[in-house]
Amino acid sequence: MFGLTEEQRQLQSAVRAFAEGEIAPHVSEWDEKSEFPHEVVKKLGEMGLLGVIFPESLGGAGMGYVEYVLAIEELSRVDGSVGIIVAAHNSLCTNHIMLGGTDEQRKRWIPKLASGEWLGAWGLTEPGSGSDAGGARTTAVKKGDTWVLNGSKTFITNGSHANCAVVLAVTDKTKGASGGISAFVVEKGTKGFRPGRKENKLGLRASDTSELIFEDCEIPAENLIGKEGDGFKDAMRVLDGGRISIAALSLGIARGALDAAMKYAQERRQFGKAISEFQAIQFKLADMATQWDAAQLLTMRAAQMKDEGKKVTLESAMAKLYASEAACRICDEGVQIHGGYGFIKDYPAEKFYRDVRLCPIGEGTSEIQRMVIARELLGSKPSRG
Ligand SMILES: Cc1cc2nc3c(=O)[nH]c(=O)nc-3n(C[C@H](O)[C@H](O)[C@H](O)COP(=O)(O)OP(=O)(O)OC[C@H]3O[C@@H](n4cnc5c(N)ncnc54)[C@H](O)[C@@H]3O)c2cc1C
Repeated sequence: MFGLTEEQRQLQSAVRAFAEGEIAPHVSEWDEKSEFPHEVVKKLGEMGLLGVIFPESLGGAGMGYVEYVLAIEELSRVDGSVGIIVAAHNSLCTNHIMLGGTDEQRKRWIPKLASGEWLGAWGLTEPGSGSDAGGARTTAVKKGDTWVLNGSKTFITNGSHANCAVVLAVTDKTKGASGGISAFVVEKGTKGFRPGRKENKLGLRASDTSELIFEDCEIPAENLIGKEGDGFKDAMRVLDGGRISIAALSLGIARGALDAAMKYAQERRQFGKAISEFQAIQFKLADMATQWDAAQLLTMRAAQMKDEGKKVTLESAMAKLYASEAACRICDEGVQIHGGYGFIKDYPAEKFYRDVRLCPIGEGTSEIQRMVIARELLGSKPSRG
């Protein structure tokens, strides 16, 4: 287990107590109804968890990625939906403004987002461009003191509840992704901007995944984040950190599955003994726990390096790839250890199994992580993020 400071342990205990007290009793109902946990999100803001990685001078909690991983993991251990809501808000939306924005833009938006007064979303994916994010077709055209956006984004976490979204759009199609795509903050209520279809999902059902639609949506010139043409480059930097949060989401869901399997294996009796006394079940638990620890070490290495200000493209891709795939295996075995009870909704195993499936897909699929890792190893020219 990765060594934690006393403060980090306290944070971990506080988030665990909150998750078990305020989230656990509602998880099944929210999942069943696909209900967004508004009250919990409000309380997470009050606890500082919507601004974990942002400086106190901007209203954040002033903590680092190690603390951020602990918080996402503890929330996701109880409900991955809450984990992904917090992750998209912190390390995608708010962090894009932090990384790419001017001081004035940081002061304008980050205090509202970090305090939880506002919820944020981040829109990169489009119906025709997922892994090939540089193939975006949403456009932003300069018109006097404004930019006019047209197009749509798909699969956007927090999309229909967010008070603002950071949106990537093509500003110069002659330049390609690097140089031709820019990022903008679009606030809720702006004419021509609306959430579209809300997806009906396999897992993480209490989180909101929606389309964002832009129809002659006119926003002030000062909503362009940083410099024109820097959007794609900044988005790739944002994803370096974002991937650590998906590794943390994977760790949390897998921990929940492992804890549930350990408990069940010691309670369930067959052939006159607890099933945990069978070597076949013991070996499953041993493999699950070993993979979990390996995933945690990779994730914490990336988080620690990020806190030291180092480049983490390789380490965050490795952490995301390994943690998400290990978490899928762990949740699968969790169902198996529960036998038939793993297939029904009275036990948590089936929900972990459904929720975890997003982890090797979101913020770059496993296939894309392998491309990023190979590119970093071989030093070849990037073709995409
Ligand atoms: C619940 C959920 C939440 C999400 N939240 C957000 C969000 O907040 N913001 C946002 O912008 N996006 C979000 N996404 C989108 C997510 O990041 C994309 O779904 C993901 O990047 C994959 O893109 P795609 O779905 O278009 O798949 P595709 O890119 O079409 O990929 C399909 C398959 O082809 C493979 N593939 C593609 N290209 C290659 C290649 N070159 N070599 C080998 N294999 C390849 C992929 O790995 C995959 O297996 C979310 C998605 C979901 C499901």
